[in-house]
Amino acid sequence: MEALYRKYRPVQFSQIIGQEHIKRIIKNALEKRMISHAYIFAGPRGTGKTTTARLLAKSLNCEKNQFSEPCNECASCKAIDNGSHLDVIELDAASNRGIDEIRRIRDGVNFSPAMGKYKVYIIDEVHMLTREAFNALLKTLEEPPSHVVFILATTNPEKIPPTITSRCQVLEFKNIPSEEIVNRLKEISAIEGFDISNDALVKIAKRASGGLRDALSILEQVIRYTGGEVTAQAVDEALGLVSEEIVSKFVDAILEGDLHTVLDITEKVYIERGDYDTFLNQLIEYSLEKKTNLMTNLSMEFFGIMKELKYGEEKLLIAKLLFANLVEKLQSAVQPKLGKGINVSNISDISKQFTE
Ligand SMILES: [Zn+2]
Repeated sequence: MEALYRKYRPVQFSQIIGQEHIKRIIKNALEKRMISHAYIFAGPRGTGKTTTARLLAKSLNCEKNQFSEPCNECASCKAIDNGSHLDVIELDAASNRGIDEIRRIRDGVNFSPAMGKYKVYIIDEVHMLTREAFNALLKTLEEPPSHVVFILATTNPEKIPPTITSRCQVLEFKNIPSEEIVNRLKEISAIEGFDISNDALVKIAKRASGGLRDALSILEQVIRYTGGEVTAQAVDEALGLVSEEIVSKFVDAILEGDLHTVLDITEKVYIERGDYDTFLNQLIEYSLEKKTNLMTNLSMEFFGIMKELKYGEEKLLIAKLLFANLVEKLQSAVQPKLGKGINVSNISDISKQFTE
């Protein structure tokens, strides 16, 4: 099956989900012919940066509708679609970090466009460039020829040197609201004939946390897993998630000092999942959603446990120790004098408790 995000990639600005402010800025710039020579497209992954960059490149070079919605039919639009346009150069800075690539760009910008009207350089993950490469890029940005447009896409704009940023128009892509992702997933599911419940779509959108590309990949993964009807529970299973019921039961047990339930669930999660990465992520999300001081602190505790568990072996044993310590810590905070709970100071203590 063709990747959904590729199949449903927008071919017009109006089809981009969310990012209304960016669509408006670009539309105005095109209409008034006030194109910047360098843009930074900053924002989280999967929010439409590369798609928008390609559409801008298409619009600038479209043979039928230049400076408007690209026609997607002319030779120029088609060449950009299949990556063969001589004037639209895409570079992935994550794999080409060095100065040679940027020098090639610097030497190339002075030549007129070969096919179209604009040379468009799209540099993805631009923050990955080396310092030398940034310096070479800076020289190009200082005196760009009028037929050149740079689009620097990045998930980490703070890592771009200020000397570069100050020469660019910065457009900030936002996380796409969950409802808009759900609506888009619904449309695509209808076209594809997927039998999927609304709860399942909401769950997928939540997992994708604002990125449409991730949402579509998850949808694909879930469809492949079930092969038929998709329920919220099937999404949990396909993604290796622990059910929300267990997550909330676990957090309640931690807060109530119910050590037995805490250790019981700790063990079950290990037997079913083999590790705690996803479970701890869910615990952190769940705690943060509650938006109280206590729960925010608890999320920090879970975060600390996640870090401790990352590299260690004997994960089950250490997880039991860490969660038991957390119960103990919370109980002694609530009832300092009674000090209810168990005393665990090191791994050998707890290993005795659980193996004997
Ligand atoms: Zn065209």
